[in-house]
Amino acid sequence: MNDGTVLMDSVAALLRSKGERMTAPRRAVLTALSNATGHLSMEEVVTAVAESAPSVHRASVYRTLVALSDLGVVQHVHLGHGATAYHLTGAEGPHLHAQCRRCGAIQDLPNDLLSEVARRMGAAHGFELDATHVALSGLCAECAAIDGDDHIVDELPTDHRHGHHHSH
Ligand SMILES: [Zn+2]
Ligand SMILES: [Zn+2]
Repeated sequence: MNDGTVLMDSVAALLRSKGERMTAPRRAVLTALSNATGHLSMEEVVTAVAESAPSVHRASVYRTLVALSDLGVVQHVHLGHGATAYHLTGAEGPHLHAQCRRCGAIQDLPNDLLSEVARRMGAAHGFELDATHVALSGLCAECAAIDGDDHIVDELPTDHRHGHHHSH
């Protein structure tokens, strides 16, 4: 996916432009996210950082994720059951997500998908929609194709959140 060195250089430049520094915890968290192919939970970021940078503690990982989110470098999206997923904000900015309520797969969607809905919500209701903050819910193509099987997995195993195409 990303070239790690280019990524770190561009993030470091962005941080400097905002008067922020590249710290060891930030470098460790960014490395974990850039090495991942999907959307990581806080716990998965903690695990990855524990392997690459054991001196960075859990609380520091959490604070770093929040700080990098505030700086726009990291995007987070809230999923069902109180879970939150993190990944690096792409060059196109934050995008939308849909999560399958049956298998838990997370799908990336274009960031302008709900632009017209957002415009109408603003005009008619004065509500400023942030469609990237919470994942949309429904059935993925694979699950929708399973005819007549309405078994809903309510408690998702943690390793099923990344979708059908991701495996460790
Ligand atoms: Zn599914
Ligand atoms: Zn995404």
